[in-house]
Amino acid sequence: MTKHITCTRKIEFDAAHRVAEHESKCKYIHGHRYTIEATFEAGTLDALGRVVDFGVVREKLGGWVDHHWDHTLILWERDRQLGEAIAAQTGQQVFYLPHNPTAERMAEYLLTTVCPVLFGESGIVCCAVRLWETPNCYADAIA
Ligand SMILES: [Zn+2]
Repeated sequence: MTKHITCTRKIEFDAAHRVAEHESKCKYIHGHRYTIEATFEAGTLDALGRVVDFGVVREKLGGWVDHHWDHTLILWERDRQLGEAIAAQTGQQVFYLPHNPTAERMAEYLLTTVCPVLFGESGIVCCAVRLWETPNCYADAIA
């Protein structure tokens, strides 16, 4: 008997960030090729046998990431003055998070803030987000 079925989609994007007050070089603005692995569950599979169509995840979550995070500078809202100075000089799109933009906090933000809005009324729940910051390092946020 299968107890639990989930499905997971990868979404990649490029962004810059800085980890404020980091003890070492991560306090400087630098970039990553991030990979999101978003995992979904539903009470029951749909008529075709899916948790959610992978294309729907690409459209909804991929669309959100394209619009809000891809090729942006992701900063803690405490760094707003810095973000505004860069935006004024370069036109850089800046996204402000309520926390320091570590992989952990970015995964948590997708899980607790973004996905509930995107999938809220569909009965589909994002139950875990893995955010790869480098090919060797990731953080998990699990509902
Ligand atoms: Zn980094």
